[in-house]
Amino acid sequence: MLSHSHRTALKAALGAFALLLLIGVPSLLPAADTARCLLADGFDFPVGKPDASGYYKFRGYTPNGHLGEDWNGRGGGDSDLGDPIYATARGVVVFSADIRVGWGNCIIVRHAYRDGTGRIQMVDSLYGHLNERKVSVGDIVERGQLVGTMGNNHGMYATHLHFEMRKNLHIGMNRTDFARDNTNYYSPTAFILEHRTLPASFAKVDIPTGGFAPYGQKLAASQKQAPVTISASPSSRTFRIPVYKSEAKPEPATKPKDAVSRIRDEVQSKGKSKGITQAPTPAAPVAPPKTSFWSRLKARFSNGSVMQGTQEKKQP
Ligand SMILES: [Zn+2]
Repeated sequence: MLSHSHRTALKAALGAFALLLLIGVPSLLPAADTARCLLADGFDFPVGKPDASGYYKFRGYTPNGHLGEDWNGRGGGDSDLGDPIYATARGVVVFSADIRVGWGNCIIVRHAYRDGTGRIQMVDSLYGHLNERKVSVGDIVERGQLVGTMGNNHGMYATHLHFEMRKNLHIGMNRTDFARDNTNYYSPTAFILEHRTLPASFAKVDIPTGGFAPYGQKLAASQKQAPVTISASPSSRTFRIPVYKSEAKPEPATKPKDAVSRIRDEVQSKGKSKGITQAPTPAAPVAPPKTSFWSRLKARFSNGSVMQGTQEKKQP
C-alpha cells in the first residue's frame, strides 16, 4: 500500500509526465517538416562525378516528352549496374522509397541555392530506377555524396539512371497532376551547367521536406497553391508519402507558376530577413494563427535527421 504522500507524489509525477506528453513529445517525434541545411555551393553531374566522365546521356530532356535525362555507362550493356550515383548538390533527402511500377527505387533531394540574382531558390533532383538507395528521408547530403547505385528497376529496363530536376517542389511521385513542361521542370544538364559553382555562404535555410500529395491521394488545389512550407496542423507531424499515381482522373495543373513564385517569394523573404552571414534563429513560417503553435514547436525542434525508414515502413 502506498501512503497518501506517496500517492500524491505519484499523481504529481503522472501529471508531469502527461504534461510532457502534451508538450515534449512533438520534439521526440520525427520532425519531418523542415531540415536546416546550408545553401548548395554548386551542382555536379550525378554520375562520373563531377563531370559525368565515363557516362553518356542516352536520352535527353524534352518538355511534354521525357521529363528527365537517362544516363548510361560507356562500358555498354549492364556493365554500369551498381555504379555509384551521387547527389548533384548539397541538400535534404525528401523522398526515398521503392515504389516499383515505372520508377523502382527512387530518391528525391531538395536543394536551396542562391541564384544569379542573389535570391534563394529551391530545386528538387530525382534519381530513379536505382539498384540500391543509400540515404533516407531527412538526411542532409553533400554534393558528390553517394545516394544510391545505378539500377534497372527490378529488371524492367536496361540499366541506367533516370535523372530529373524540378522547379515545382510539389510534384513528388505524382507527375500526372502537373504540366509536363518548363513551368515545372528544368533541363537537368542545362541547370547543372548554369550552376556548377555558386558563391560560398554560411547561410542556413529551413528546407521543407513535405509538400507532396499523400499516398493514394491527390494534392488539393489549395495545397498546390500554397507555398511549400511547414504544414502546421498537428496531424502533419508525420511525413506524408508522396503518391505515384492518383486513382482519380488528374485535373489540369492549376497555375503551377503561382505556386512556384510563391515558394520563391517565401524563400527569398526568409533569406532577406535572416541575413546571409550568420545562422539565423529558426523562425515560424507563415502559418494560420490557429496552428502557429505547432509550427513554432516544429521549427524549434526539427533537425531533419530522424526520418529514417518512415516511408519504407509505410510502403505496401
Ligand atoms: Zn528516363
